[in-house]
Amino acid sequence: MSIKNIEKIITPGTPRFVGDGFRVHHFIPGTVSMQRMDPFLVMDYNSKYHFSPSEIPRGVGVHPHKGFETVTIAYKGRIEHGDSTGAGGVIDEGDVQWMTAAGGVLHKEFHEREWSKKGGEFQMVQLWVNLPAKHKQDEPRYQLLQNKNMARVALPDNNGEVEIIAGEYQGKKGSANTFSPIHLYNVKLKKGGGIKLDFPAEYATAILLIEGSVKVNNKEIVPQDHFALLKKEGENFSLEAIEDATVLVLGGAPLHEPIAAHGPFVMNTRAELIQAFDDFNNGKFGYLED
Ligand code: MN
Repeated sequence: MSIKNIEKIITPGTPRFVGDGFRVHHFIPGTVSMQRMDPFLVMDYNSKYHFSPSEIPRGVGVHPHKGFETVTIAYKGRIEHGDSTGAGGVIDEGDVQWMTAAGGVLHKEFHEREWSKKGGEFQMVQLWVNLPAKHKQDEPRYQLLQNKNMARVALPDNNGEVEIIAGEYQGKKGSANTFSPIHLYNVKLKKGGGIKLDFPAEYATAILLIEGSVKVNNKEIVPQDHFALLKKEGENFSLEAIEDATVLVLGGAPLHEPIAAHGPFVMNTRAELIQAFDDFNNGKFGYLED
C-alpha cells in the first residue's frame, strides 16, 4: 500500500445558473473530464449562496435524463422534485436524492415552496453517476436517503464522524443501492481531527470542501469550496481538519466503457444518443406536468 497524492487542486470557477435556482460551479466535466472521473460524469456545486424570498419557487422545469443517475445532496435549503414515474418529494438539509434515470425519465427540480417564500442560504451538490451499458435501459428508480437514517461511523477521540451515503466505511454500508462500486461520504471533522481513507489505486477519487479546510496527506491544504483530484496511484490518503470541516469524499471504480454524452443523455454510442433524442421527442419518456 502506498500514498495516494493530490493530482490537482481546482479553484471554483465563475458560477453559472442552471435554471434560476442553482448557481453552480462545474467541476466535472471541464476542469476534470468525464473520462478521467469515470464513473462520475458531472459534478455541479452550488456553493453557499443567499436566495431572496420568492413566491414562485426557483429551479429547473421539466427536462429529461437517460442513461445515468443523478445524485443530489442538500447541505443548506430544501429542494422539491417530481418525475414522470410519479416519484418525488422534498430533500431537506443533509438528505440525498438518488435518482436512476436509466431508460429515461422526465423530472423537475425546484426550491421547496415554503423555503422559497422565506429565502435563505442554499448549498447543494449534484453528481451524475454513469450506469454500466447493461443497465442503461433499466426502469427508472428513485431513492430518498434521509439524513436521520444514514449509516454513520464515529471517529475516535470524538473527532467527528463519517456519514456513508453509498459504499462502505470500516465495514458499515451506506443505504444507497448502486450499479457499480462507489464510495460517497460526508466526512465531518472537528478542528485538529483527522481520518485515514483507502480506495483502490484505479478508483476515480476526489474531495470537495463543503465547509472549512483540510490538509491532505500532511502536505497540501485544500480550502473551502475547492475540489481536489487524487492520483490513480496509491491507495491511502489522510485528511486533517485545519478548522471544523465537512468534506464530500467520492471514489468510484471506472466502468471503462465508451461515453457518448450530449445534454441530458449519456449513452455508449452516437447511434444510441440519436435514438435517445428520438425517443424523447416521440414522448417515450412519459409525461410530467409543468
Ligand atoms: Mn435534472
